[in-house]
Amino acid sequence: MTLLLKNLMLATPDAVIQRGYLMIDGERISAIGSGAPPQTLITQSLISTLQYPQIIDASNKLAIPGLVNAHTHLEQTFMRGHSANHSLLDWLRNYIWKLQGAMTLDDIRLACMLGMVEALRGGATTIIHHYKLPFTQEHSNVVLQAAQTLGVRLVLARGWADRGTNAESGESIIADLTRLFADWHGAADGRIMIANGPLAPWRCTPELLQRATELARAHGAVTHCHMNETQDEVTMTLKDTRGEMRPIEWFASLGLLGDDFHAVHGVWLSAHECDLLAEHHATVTHCPAANMILASGVAPVAQLLKQGVNVALATDGPASNDGQDMIEMMRLAAYLARVSSLDPQAMAPRQVLDMATVNGARALKSAGGRLEVGAPADIVLLDMNAAHIQPIGNTLSSLVYNARGSDVDTVFVNGRILLADKQLVGLDELALLAECRERAASLAQRAGIALD
Ligand SMILES: [Zn+2]
Repeated sequence: MTLLLKNLMLATPDAVIQRGYLMIDGERISAIGSGAPPQTLITQSLISTLQYPQIIDASNKLAIPGLVNAHTHLEQTFMRGHSANHSLLDWLRNYIWKLQGAMTLDDIRLACMLGMVEALRGGATTIIHHYKLPFTQEHSNVVLQAAQTLGVRLVLARGWADRGTNAESGESIIADLTRLFADWHGAADGRIMIANGPLAPWRCTPELLQRATELARAHGAVTHCHMNETQDEVTMTLKDTRGEMRPIEWFASLGLLGDDFHAVHGVWLSAHECDLLAEHHATVTHCPAANMILASGVAPVAQLLKQGVNVALATDGPASNDGQDMIEMMRLAAYLARVSSLDPQAMAPRQVLDMATVNGARALKSAGGRLEVGAPADIVLLDMNAAHIQPIGNTLSSLVYNARGSDVDTVFVNGRILLADKQLVGLDELALLAECRERAASLAQRAGIALD
């Protein structure tokens, strides 16, 4: 398919084009520029699309690269609304683990589909789904199939814990990871990826951390783990290592850090841990909403960026955020950086957009996350002609401080339109919502959690 968008604003890597054009040819961006599209491109799009009128006037729309939600737990879409007034460990033990334990195959499929639809509507074209449930192959297969059907890019970071509550045997974890890499890594034209997803340092043995990371590296895949989210967790690792090592230090000693490692949260980091992350070119995945909701603390994002650490942005699971809106996440990241540093210049809109796009892509070793010729056509168009946005002074400021997920108008992933004029393409959203409402209520009942 060839498609020519004209008269739109474009957030390119270097600047914002106020009126320009963008051409999609198949899966990639084939042309981009300012002003009116050259006649050659117009002719080319007319010739190549006999069936569809594929020159679109996108006046008042802003094109940005598809956002990368660099950490979530999609199955928690059926668990939102339970995060108020609980600390992380209390919330996990009394709500989340109970609900997770009661989920059926159908619950998982529907919760993940709903989460992906919500993410897409909030501008995410790539989702790293840290899959926490030690269930059967069928459970991960239904999630991957749902992503394939919907058309988003999904990284399934296969969660695991071989210590403590819900521990699995090391052999079954390695066997399942091996199967997932063989069956799914790179599937659907590369839209589906598998990652190694140890859940947290205090839930994993060093032997299996090393084995699983080696396995991931053999497949060119990344390792994705909750790190230093709360002070209690740092204390647990210090205790495990006889007071010698904090979590990032422990992981460094095991050879786990590298440009293929994601430290999710990274709230309680010492100066030495920040240095180690920078030295190893690791990614820190910043989850501002979840850190605020669970009162975990504030990640030292400005310091990490100053040291050259790749910081990506994420919502975290709906249970500890309540939403999957990456546009909102950009705003919260900017607010949090300012209030925590008492510096109004702590984070520029461009830095926030980079965290949500190119840094997320870099974390996955992908060249995406940029609007440029040759890049994958993962593109979001926002309708900027709205009372809460106009008039626009600085385009990127308007994007970060004024726009909302509900302004996402059109979404392309790999050149395919998944959302057009705010309507999902090829999916009955109202029917999905009705089914999810019914299933989530029955899940809470089965888990013995009262809804008020
Ligand atoms: Zn998480």
